[in-house]
Parts: sequence; C-alpha cells; structure tokens
Amino acid sequence: MQKIIIIKYGELTTKKGNIKFFIKTLKKNIDESLKDLDYKIEYDNGRMFIFSDNLDLIKKRLKYIFGIHEIIIGYEFTTTAIEDLKNNLKNLIVDKPISTFKIRTKRSDKTYPLTSMEISSTLGGVVLKNVPNSKVDVHNPETFIDVEIRLNKSYIYFDGTLSLGGYPVGVQGKGLLMLSGGIDSPVAGYLAMKRGVRIEGIYFESPPHTSDAAKEKVKTLTKTLSSYSSYIKLHVINFTEIQEAIYKNIPHEYLITIMRRMMYRISERLAHKNNAKIIINGESIGQVASQTLSSMNVINEVVKIPVIRPVACLDKLEIISLAKKIGTYETSILPFEDCCTIFVPDHPVINPEIKKCEEYEQLFDFEPLLKSAIANEEIIKITPHDKKFEDIL
Ligand code: ATP
Ligand code: MG
Repeated sequence: MQKIIIIKYGELTTKKGNIKFFIKTLKKNIDESLKDLDYKIEYDNGRMFIFSDNLDLIKKRLKYIFGIHEIIIGYEFTTTAIEDLKNNLKNLIVDKPISTFKIRTKRSDKTYPLTSMEISSTLGGVVLKNVPNSKVDVHNPETFIDVEIRLNKSYIYFDGTLSLGGYPVGVQGKGLLMLSGGIDSPVAGYLAMKRGVRIEGIYFESPPHTSDAAKEKVKTLTKTLSSYSSYIKLHVINFTEIQEAIYKNIPHEYLITIMRRMMYRISERLAHKNNAKIIINGESIGQVASQTLSSMNVINEVVKIPVIRPVACLDKLEIISLAKKIGTYETSILPFEDCCTIFVPDHPVINPEIKKCEEYEQLFDFEPLLKSAIANEEIIKITPHDKKFEDIL
C-alpha cells in the first residue's frame, strides 16, 4: 500500500470552456511550487494524483495554491482483485467513524469482470458489516468513499481537507497591486490572486522621509504573499521628488488627493508597460478621508484602467481577520512611516473637487518627474520564505 495525494479542483470544473486551460495552469503552478522535490503527477478533468515519498511537505505547499478545492490522502494498491479490494477497504475503515456513506467507483479498466455498480455494492457490504451503525445514503451521504480501478492498480480514498479554492493564479492575466506596508493592501492582493489574477506589486517610497525599514516591511509582505503564487515582481518607485513638489506647490488640504492622483497615474502607466490589465489596491470605503466616495471619484478620474478594490466593502475587523489568516498581519502592524503619513495635512479635504485638482496640478510641471520616477524604478523578484510553509489551514 502506498499513500498518495489526490486533489479535487472545485470551482474550475464549472467553467466548461476553460477547463483544460485552468487545469494546465494549476498543474504549472503546482510544478513551480514543488520544483525542488521528487514527485509525479497524473491528472484528468476531475482530479489530480500526486505520487511522492515526501507527501507531508507537498501537502503543506499545496495548501497555498489557489484552484485546489480539496486535498485528500488516498491509498494505492498494486492489485485489483475484488477480494483484495474488500480486504484493503476493511483495513482502511478500522476505527473510522462512518455513519451515512456512498461508494463511488470509477473503472478505467473496462475489461474488469464487475461493473462499477457491482463493485460499489460489494464494497458497500464490507462497510455495513464492519462499521456498526453505518448506513448507505446515495443522495446526501456524510462520507464519500472513492474507489478507482485501473490496469493492475486500485485506489481507495475518503473525504479530504478543504483547501483555498479559487482559480489558479494566472488564469485571469495580470494585475498591478498598489502595496503599502499597511494591513489592507496585502489582503487585497490575496483576494485578487484567489480569483486567478497574477499580481505584480508597486510600492512608492520617499527616502529619506521613509526609511529602509519601511521598504523591508513591504518586501517581507510581498514574500509572504508570494507563497500563494510562487513569486511576485515588486516595482519600487522613488516618489520623493514628486512628494516634495506636491508639498511645496499644492494647498495642503489637497496634498493627499493630489498625491494619490499621482500614484494612480504612475500605476496605470506601469500597468500598461507590464501588461497588467487592472490596478488593485487596499482602499476601503470610508476608512480615511481619501477613501470617501467623493475622494475615490476624484482620484480614480485620472486613470482609464479598471481599479479593483477587493476590500472596499469589508469592515476593518474583517480585513484584520483575513490578514491574520494569510500571514501578513504581524508584519503589517510593525510601526513604520508611510509616504502618506509623513506629509499628512491637519485637515485633508473630504469632498475634493476635480476642478480644483486640475487647477492645482497646473501650478507645477509634474510630468517630467512622473516620467523619471518610472524610468528609474527598481524591480525586485521575490520568492517565498525558504520552504517555510506554515500550516495555514
Ligand atoms: P493599507 O493598510 O493598505 O496601507 P490604508 O488604510 O493605510 O491602507 P491608504 O494609506 O489611504 O490606506 O492607502 C490606500 C491604498 O493605497 C493602500 O491600501 C494601497 O493599496 C495604496 N497605497 C497607499 N500608500 C502606498 C504606497 N506607499 N505604495 C503603494 N501603494 C500605496
Ligand atoms: Mg497605508
């Protein structure tokens, strides 16, 4: 008997037209995550089988991969005779609490002497006989017992652990995540990845007003997020000159509004340059002055690219609970200076006007600074913490 892992896909199987592409992408993501290990994968449209001597570590890593609905430990046998199947099942159900159950049999060896139905009913008898109070329920069973018969080999497995679900990262193309050191934006990035978006990060730094420690924090957050996608490219934009020019030239109640308009402009251009189809950020309705609906309008107005705000309608407590779950919270709450917090005016405008923004932006020629900020970007490719996949589920 050999232990194996079986993966069920969940939501991807409902997308009929795309299913091949989805599964291929999932397989690619799994290969990327396991590339330093010895393993073999077999798959079809319904599930994936993983064979390896290193299943515990593999299981830990699989828990970080979107597109996997369920991870199951199953058993492979090198015999298919019905008497052997009966014995094998009997051994596996010793001490297993089974109340209502259904046996699902798949038979890819069509020369096998019994039909799937016959196998299911024979093996059902084994359960009924060996597990007190067990009962067959074909409509709504508590436990599924899957049996699969191939040429010379058979497999038995039970329900597994629910995993992250979602779509495999990459099936939806790319998005650019505005990543600050706070709590919200890493959660926004996680949620976008969960829908199949591969993310690249953009971080605006303003040295010497922001420290190296603040940048390190963003890199650490990116590293944690990269566990869910194997790697993330982080674009670091030096925002100092733009920030200072805004501070010197713009009426202070509009500092943040204009600053965010500049960030959006740069993000859009960088998104186009890197083939990203959307911007993602951690804005949440009403959280701060720059996230009122009026502010969002005035800020969003400078770009055409869709801006997706996965945490827009979540309460802070909901965002915090997700941040804890995905492993970014502890890093996010470390104290640091953000380019926003340093130049915060006493009374930021809550209902900014577009006309005023446009008027103020004429007071200084920002365009050369935007261009040079992009031209001088620093790109860092970030990969997960060295094999340190903590148990998140
Ligand atoms: P967070 O907790 O994510 O930092 P926040 O509540 O502090 O969010 P803001 O500082 O107003 O809110 O920023 C809103 C969003 O704008 C952030 O979630 C992030 O997506 C983006 N953002 C803010 N500052 C930066 C920055 N320095 N670099 C990149 N993106 C930023
Ligand atoms: Mg912030």
